[in-house]
Amino acid sequence: MAVTITNVKVILTAPEGINLIVVRVDTNQPGLFGLGCATFAYRHLAVACLIEEYLRPLLIGRDAEAIEDLWQLMHQNAYWRNGPIENNAISGIDMALWDIKGKLANMPLYQLFGGKVRAAVPIYRHADGRDINEICDNIQKFRDQGITHIRCQTGGYGGSGYGPAPTSAPAGAMDGVYLDGRAYMRATLKMFEAIRARIGFDVELIHDVHERLKPIDAIRFAGQLEQFELFFLEDAVPLEDGEWLRQLRAKTTIPLAHGELFNHPFEWRDLIADRVIDYIRVHLSQIGGITPARKLQLFAEQYGVQTAWHGPGDMSPLAHAANIHIDLAARNFGVQEWSGIAPPNSVIQALSGPRGALLEVFPGLPEFRSGYVYANDKPGLGVDLDEAAAAKYPCRNTITTWTQTRVTSGALHTP
Ligand code: MG
Repeated sequence: MAVTITNVKVILTAPEGINLIVVRVDTNQPGLFGLGCATFAYRHLAVACLIEEYLRPLLIGRDAEAIEDLWQLMHQNAYWRNGPIENNAISGIDMALWDIKGKLANMPLYQLFGGKVRAAVPIYRHADGRDINEICDNIQKFRDQGITHIRCQTGGYGGSGYGPAPTSAPAGAMDGVYLDGRAYMRATLKMFEAIRARIGFDVELIHDVHERLKPIDAIRFAGQLEQFELFFLEDAVPLEDGEWLRQLRAKTTIPLAHGELFNHPFEWRDLIADRVIDYIRVHLSQIGGITPARKLQLFAEQYGVQTAWHGPGDMSPLAHAANIHIDLAARNFGVQEWSGIAPPNSVIQALSGPRGALLEVFPGLPEFRSGYVYANDKPGLGVDLDEAAAAKYPCRNTITTWTQTRVTSGALHTP
């Protein structure tokens, strides 16, 4: 008997104060359903509306096993294609269909992707601090947990927090996150000098520019960072300035990781085929879920480009699990960003603060142990959703401020 889709439902929840969007796809088979992540934290109602008002009627009654065909159907249905709202909506359903596929096969997803090429997934964590002592203390805490790759930052990305304009801005300038690229570059070079002097070179260090520099400054900065032997430099130039990556590549030997804002194959195809970058780090739901991510991973393998999927706090444990399943089966896996999800009472949780609410809502998280993340061996994604618990943490619709980045002359800059 064909497995058909009987319902598509959106569950909105914010166990840690970050809006998460979960999609549940039900089938005509008793007890068989799938869960997926459609999280676009800053436009959650738009994604929910697209799924419930447009994709749900499109999908009900269709073959739940035909993942590739349904992905293309959703992608093409509105004639105009792509973008974060549509791709995240498609991702929620795509991941749920893969979850169903795994449950039908009675296998964890990594088995459907060809089986494990590694026992567990090495991760990187983010260490920052108000001064060098605090940063080094936080690096040491992560190393004590067995973590081998650590991303380092002085304060916020490229600047301070949201607030009034500095005195160097024009009178009457708007509030924002004000960026002083040159001061940030000087502070970051000092930070890496101090870290290497104190901790040595026996740890892999990463840095994220988060697009918060002018491209010409990013090229100079990358050259200055070479002496610290970083594992990679992340998002050195804004998405819109992608042409500069070729000049950056030609002028430095620092490994480049790029692409957490990408949402279409046109954005990564030439960068990979021409070996302009070393690590591709897309956000799985932003590109449309597991189906396009697997294609990207296999494409990148042909060119020796490794994966380093985006793994921040503003995605649900379902998406973290999707990352881990692909990582486990990918020969060209590099490293996985991990936002610190950990079982209760673990050491990592002590450092990251209480994560009890997230674990209450999403039982079955991949497990962090001594520097590595292990998939559980349940069928599909292996992560469940407690809907009653999810309802206790409603999403909020607020104005997003951290993206209101400005340069000191007052103009907006990409966040
Ligand atoms: Mg980043």
